[in-house]
Amino acid sequence: MLDALMNLIPFALSLETNTLVDVADVPSGKKCGCICPSCSIPLIAKKGDVLEWHFAHDSQFIEKDQELSCDYSWAVAVKMMIKQLLLEGNTLALPEYIINFQSIDYPRGKRQIKVTDSSIIHYENPELKLLECDVTVEVKGKKLGIILLTKHSFSNEDTLFEQALLGVLAISIENVGYDDGGKAVNHLRNQLRVLIESKTIAKHWLYHGREKAEFIKATEQDKLLSEKIAYIRANEQEEWLREKPRNKPENIITQKPTATLKKKQWYCVFCKFEYQGYLTGLNPCPQCNSHLYRTPK
Ligand SMILES: [Zn+2]
Ligand SMILES: [Zn+2]
Repeated sequence: MLDALMNLIPFALSLETNTLVDVADVPSGKKCGCICPSCSIPLIAKKGDVLEWHFAHDSQFIEKDQELSCDYSWAVAVKMMIKQLLLEGNTLALPEYIINFQSIDYPRGKRQIKVTDSSIIHYENPELKLLECDVTVEVKGKKLGIILLTKHSFSNEDTLFEQALLGVLAISIENVGYDDGGKAVNHLRNQLRVLIESKTIAKHWLYHGREKAEFIKATEQDKLLSEKIAYIRANEQEEWLREKPRNKPENIITQKPTATLKKKQWYCVFCKFEYQGYLTGLNPCPQCNSHLYRTPK
């Protein structure tokens, strides 16, 4: 994938329809009837056999002693077209969303939570530039944000999105101009429409309205699991205590098998507090109420 190819402009503004059109859908050469949406210089449609089809600024309209200074790039064109397609359309394919969850007392530590499955949704009321997003659409009365990313986009990871949003979907445009074999395509508008409506590649969630709830749910499950582990641990200790007299007969008299209230020092893994509890049963930390405690080292 040559970077130079990324510079070839696939879409232009049609003077006839005043919409962004694909070079594939207009006549070749100067007859294309298109101008650059950025600098308004007339464009020429180039549909050769070597390079992928593209538009070029008509040099006739550039002053001889002036360099062409126009910021209309491949990336700008593709972003504009995706926005136009979203404004025209009503169908959007959404990817699944899986987040990592660091389990506190779980044997292998890492767990994954599926926040949502992939799906194809229908939307209405698409709007540009709203709530920190490039486009927002409405799904069953709730707004879903869409952000278009290039490899030069700033990271959105720290952006605090509107909590009312259903979610914020990112579409990375970096590799959308190629077919499965890595070759630049000549009908990019169609390819983008297929991408928007039925594919999940190049898409990922920046935020999902359900992720917090799913995270809390997982934390609760984790806590229950820790309690279960603590309970099992306590039972093992109790058993050990019952067996002890049998192993050491001299203890039988002083150590009753039902001595469940034997005191013991515990160490809270959460808040690092050391406290006195009992050898058996649950002994949550008196300071933070955590059930993640162990014998002090
Ligand atoms: Zn231009
Ligand atoms: Zn504690």
